[in-house]
Amino acid sequence: MKFNTKTIHGGQKHEEATGAVMPPIFQTSTFAQSSPGEHKGYGYARGSNPTRTALENSFAAIENGTNGFAFASGMAAIDCVLRLLKPGDEVVAGDDLYGGTYRMFTQLFHKYGLEFSFVDMNAVENVTNAITQKTKLVWIETPTNPLMKIADIAAITSAIKDINSAILVAVDNTFATPYLQQPLTLGADIVMHSATKYLGGHSDLVMGALMVKDAKLAEEIHFIQFAAGAIAGPMDSFLALRGVKTLHIRMQRHCENGRAVAEFLHNHLKVGEVYYPGLENHPNYEIAKKQMKDFGGMVSFKLKDESKAAAFKFLENTKIFTLAESLGGVESLVNHPVTMSHASIPEEERLKVGVTDAVIRLSVGIEDIEDLLADLEQALNL
Ligand SMILES: *Cc1c(COP(=O)(O)O)cnc(C)c1O
Repeated sequence: MKFNTKTIHGGQKHEEATGAVMPPIFQTSTFAQSSPGEHKGYGYARGSNPTRTALENSFAAIENGTNGFAFASGMAAIDCVLRLLKPGDEVVAGDDLYGGTYRMFTQLFHKYGLEFSFVDMNAVENVTNAITQKTKLVWIETPTNPLMKIADIAAITSAIKDINSAILVAVDNTFATPYLQQPLTLGADIVMHSATKYLGGHSDLVMGALMVKDAKLAEEIHFIQFAAGAIAGPMDSFLALRGVKTLHIRMQRHCENGRAVAEFLHNHLKVGEVYYPGLENHPNYEIAKKQMKDFGGMVSFKLKDESKAAAFKFLENTKIFTLAESLGGVESLVNHPVTMSHASIPEEERLKVGVTDAVIRLSVGIEDIEDLLADLEQALNL
């Protein structure tokens, strides 16, 4: 089955009792048993729920995995991955991560004895040099948030596995989605998504996903999901499944509009640096071209006037681009990473990687491109 077909049919079957084409929302916490321990595959809904199962099967299919898992949020999915580790274990992660990921690593899990190092994943050696005997997990985000840096998933994974095949490689695939890149196929062990973003696609739910291709790892993750309990509910599972069915057509338009916005900004007199992996002057353009089917809908940039005041003036004056946290929905959003999505990263760390007050992040939606460009033009010219 090819990708577009998979988003609609992957792992899905018609509901048995009625033939319903979409799975019903099984809004139930428990399932009747005929004799103690004897049931139809569903016992208590923290363990599994048929609406969630339908979504989890879809998640597995679109990332070419064997198993998918739906969590209460993207952060709950990352939390689950870290619970695979034990005190003393080390994690090597990228140095330009989603702010909440950095906060979870440094402020929640560090105190339980996990050690984290943050490296620029632009170069494979930076990752391999950080590996020690204690390294158990490599955490890759690509493209990164908000600077759109690209890590070569296949090259990093094969270099890590050459050193120690037991080290798990996890990829936060939220920005790219499986429409653009499929990390399990490139060698990674775990794919993570904030399904709140492109997979859900309509800014109407908060959810996380994990996908894996190994039965033993799937069993461990299912145990943690069940034991820790941060599951996605049936209503949200239904909405996310509906979202996934249009992922491919939404992404196609996000990519078209993203490219047009990036080129418009790149050529605009008032705009300084533009961060978009589809621009030929992007430092990792070649890797992005090899690894991704297209370049996505996320575009970051700086105004030539790098003052906070100039950035704020722009942020307050877009009309179609709504100033809001989050990304990946059908509507265009604009974000100021320093005060919004990345406020949890200490200033010193932010400045080291270049996330200054001047950085503005756009989630380019699927509206008519003429309206989007006109909106940017008027806000730039105020
Ligand atoms: C939003 C986001 C997360 C966190 O997901 P939530 O659903 O908000 O908990 C993690 N990684 C990336 C890249 C994100 O954009």
